[in-house]
This record gives sequence, C-alpha cells and structure tokens, in this order.
Amino acid sequence: MDDRELEGLLRSKGVSPTSQRMQVGKILFERPQHVCAEEILNKVHEAGYRVSKATVYNTLNLFVTRGLIRELNVDPVRMFYDSTTHAHHHFYNVDTGEVMDIPPDQMNFAIMPKLPEGTVAESVEVTIKVRNKH
Ligand SMILES: [Zn+2]
Repeated sequence: MDDRELEGLLRSKGVSPTSQRMQVGKILFERPQHVCAEEILNKVHEAGYRVSKATVYNTLNLFVTRGLIRELNVDPVRMFYDSTTHAHHHFYNVDTGEVMDIPPDQMNFAIMPKLPEGTVAESVEVTIKVRNKH
C-alpha cells in the first residue's frame, strides 16, 4: 500500500492522517499480519521513525475504534492486532506466541450449539491453541 492509498484508507474511516499515524499505518498495512504493540513499536523505530510508545498505543486504539484493525484476545498478557478485519479463525502457538490465520475452507461446524434465548449469532471465531511437538 503506498502513501496515497494509506491516506485514503485513513480518511475513509474518519482518521486524520498525521505523520505519526501514517508511520504506524505503513507498518501495519504492509501485509496481512498479527502483531502486538511492542512489535509495532520496534518496527516503527527500526524504520527510523520517531514515534513515542504512548502515540503507538493511542494510534492502535484509534485504528481499532475506527475498524481499521481488530484486537485479538488470544494471549492473556498481550493484546494482538489483526490487519484483517473480517471474522476469521486462528491458530495460536503457545510456545512461540505466533498467531496464524486458519484458511476458511479448513474450518466448518457440523453442529452449532443452541444459542441463548433471544440471541442471534453475530460471528463465530475460533482460536485453536497449539504447542510445538517436543
Ligand atoms: Zn487473523
């Protein structure tokens, strides 16, 4: 995604494209990925950008609020951010901390549980925790 596309994407979600948001956005939308805030901060600094930790966190929260990225609660101690925003399933490797998408055609449900009275299913997202074979 080039700068113009990124700027258009941010504006389309009502986010004013400041230079710091553009820098965080460039890292996030470089490719589909799952990253935690520390990784983003490291990559931003490796790229030579001067963005504070607080700004990175604020920008990630803003992007989540505006639907540009999604929070993933796979790890109780670290929040992951997913640049793919539609509902999908994940593998989470508890040994390496890596999050991977499960291809949609490899996941299906023969039987859905009976939903609580008065509710409809909004989305189904599954995390399969895996660990390395020792
Ligand atoms: Zn994902």
